[in-house]
Amino acid sequence: MRFQGRVAIVTGGASGIGAAFARRVHREGGSVMIADIDGAKGAALAANLGDRATFRTVDVADAEALAALADATVEQFGAIDILYNNAGIGNFGLTPDLPVEQWRRCLAVNLDAVFFGCRAVIPHMRSRGGGAIVNTASASGLAADYGFTAYNAAKAGVINYTRSLAIDHARDGIRANSICPGPVDTPILTTGVDAIPGLRAEWEAVVPSRRFATPDEIAAVAAFLASDDASAITGAAIPVDGGLTAHTGQPDLRDRMAAAASA
Ligand code: NAD
Repeated sequence: MRFQGRVAIVTGGASGIGAAFARRVHREGGSVMIADIDGAKGAALAANLGDRATFRTVDVADAEALAALADATVEQFGAIDILYNNAGIGNFGLTPDLPVEQWRRCLAVNLDAVFFGCRAVIPHMRSRGGGAIVNTASASGLAADYGFTAYNAAKAGVINYTRSLAIDHARDGIRANSICPGPVDTPILTTGVDAIPGLRAEWEAVVPSRRFATPDEIAAVAAFLASDDASAITGAAIPVDGGLTAHTGQPDLRDRMAAAASA
């Protein structure tokens, strides 16, 4: 019951990692304000959780909507202890071909929104003596892949902005950390991947653990960072990626060595 008496906001809370985080915080006694652009799924999740859970339709690219979200959370639950900036969208396109509007929307939802959310909650946290901010970045913020142009830029921005937050607000008792998931079994990835025959197997094969993570495996780390168990951790960017970013990408020699040993 790490979150008993605590109040958490989670963006992108209607699906995947955000929904898993909302369920986990709620299960451990916390109150959750679920924010998402998908009204139907978000409302259904809040109704399913029942007491101590509320949903609000929010486009995180809208700074005023995030300010209103923070105010509504304080009005309903009396405080904000945790902000999980997690909403995100994918994007694909090489620089010469990527429409400016797509670049801007990708940066707005994945990066600007993190700033808007923090801007809205930090005054509340500061007046209360502290709080915890967790931001979903990505392995794609630590390194780059073909055509991930705007997404790579946005997620790298989340990682370094989180460090900046940690430094600026350490003396306010506010911790800020980012999580860098590798591939996770959620619609943002699987909708596109599963439309291409064989791509999931190819993708899994380059992860040292040989599988996509589950949303709950990412939410577990977010919950840890949001809890007092992580009271000395701030400014960290934690890979949760089955070893993806630990690997240089050079050939895996184990099968060849096993074959040579048995020859
Ligand atoms: P998901 O598709 O299950 O959930 C994303 C949620 O964000 C959805 O509910 C969607 O409606 C919401 N959302 C999108 N745009 C929004 C907006 N403008 N305002 C409010 N909500 C919005 O995917 P997920 O994997 O749970 O994604 C959560 C985060 O994890 C994202 O930031 C994503 O970039 C990041 N991430 C995912 C993976 C992966 O492989 N799934 C890997 C690394 C990082």
